[in-house]
Amino acid sequence: MIPFEYVRPDSISGAVSLLLEDPEGTSLIAGGTDILSEVKDGLKRPRRLVALDGLAELRSLDVGNGSTRLGAGLTLAELSTNPRLERGYPILTQAARSVATPQVRNVATLGGNLCQRPRCWYYRDRLFPCYKKGGSVCYGATGHNRYLAILGGGPSFMVHPSDMAPALIAVDARLEAFGPNGFRTMPLEDFFDHGQSRPLQEHVLGSGELVTAIFLPSPPPDTRSVYLKARERADHDFALASVAASITLAGGVVAKANVILGGVAPTPYRARLAEAAIVGRPVDKLDLQEAARLAVSEARPLEFNRYKVSLTANLVGQALQSLLTQLKGGTSHADRL
Ligand SMILES: Cc1cc2nc3c(=O)[nH]c(=O)nc-3n(C[C@H](O)[C@H](O)[C@H](O)COP(=O)(O)OP(=O)(O)OC[C@H]3O[C@@H](n4cnc5c(N)ncnc54)[C@H](O)[C@@H]3O)c2cc1C
Repeated sequence: MIPFEYVRPDSISGAVSLLLEDPEGTSLIAGGTDILSEVKDGLKRPRRLVALDGLAELRSLDVGNGSTRLGAGLTLAELSTNPRLERGYPILTQAARSVATPQVRNVATLGGNLCQRPRCWYYRDRLFPCYKKGGSVCYGATGHNRYLAILGGGPSFMVHPSDMAPALIAVDARLEAFGPNGFRTMPLEDFFDHGQSRPLQEHVLGSGELVTAIFLPSPPPDTRSVYLKARERADHDFALASVAASITLAGGVVAKANVILGGVAPTPYRARLAEAAIVGRPVDKLDLQEAARLAVSEARPLEFNRYKVSLTANLVGQALQSLLTQLKGGTSHADRL
């Protein structure tokens, strides 16, 4: 272990000032479930860790009243057990519960989940100077690529590991960041960066910026959503593939559909062709198999991950079927908030 300074600011402005003092040598730490592994494994050598756990601004959870605010410092355990969140946005509690183990969820935060680094073996081994460590090679492209990207890969074929990200994008979440120029917000979908311009991170935060909150619009009437995840180990594991799907009906016709894939691309992947096949169709005339096929029709699998194509298509089909079943009965999420 290398020596580093550990600082606990008492405001988000204090955190930003600390980041700006030494941007190269400073890292944020929230729950520490990812960053500490990176430090221990020699992937990161920070001179200073800035702890976010004392910041009350990041810890609030306000559900309802037109919009919901989730502080970036909320733990995944808090998200997965909040009854109002479960009623209004069950897709989020489903995704939060699918992450890791209860022990990890008790400390892992929402902000950390969205900003966590890749789990690719080559990235996690300090002996491989891969693209995501600032090198010029993605060893996974021709190496052990069983768990890597089938969609949108290159130059890195990492997959984005977050379960919360696809689920939040499926409910049209916006991300709030705070930095030297104050607050800014963006659709969460725009937060993730493919890594072409900034290979050392998977998001668009600038120097001195941190994630402060996620905002959720109220779900429109007649909306249903679901999160499904395929993994190797049933009790806790990262996604081999996941699907976050949401459908809104108007007069029996699909007015809006979000189909977001996780674990299959370097960023959460919007399956636009599947969405287009659903939107505008009467709900009783949907061709789910065709939508599932289209969701992966642009896949370019690597040598050892071809299985992910059919796995993902099946998951999309199951998710859409589940939404149709939900739409046939029960109250909408909006009415339960
Ligand atoms: C055994 C195990 C199993 C796991 N399984 C899953 C899984 O199935 N699904 C899944 O999604 N994840 C999984 N994870 C990853 C886990 O969810 C993340 O490690 C966790 O969410 C990170 O949150 P944290 O608060 O601990 O972040 P930290 O480790 O403190 O930080 C992670 C990164 O985010 C940055 N960061 C933290 N907070 C902010 C902020 N507010 N603004 C900007 N940057 C920030 C840090 O600088 C660091 O780079 C697993 C982890 C472990 C150890």
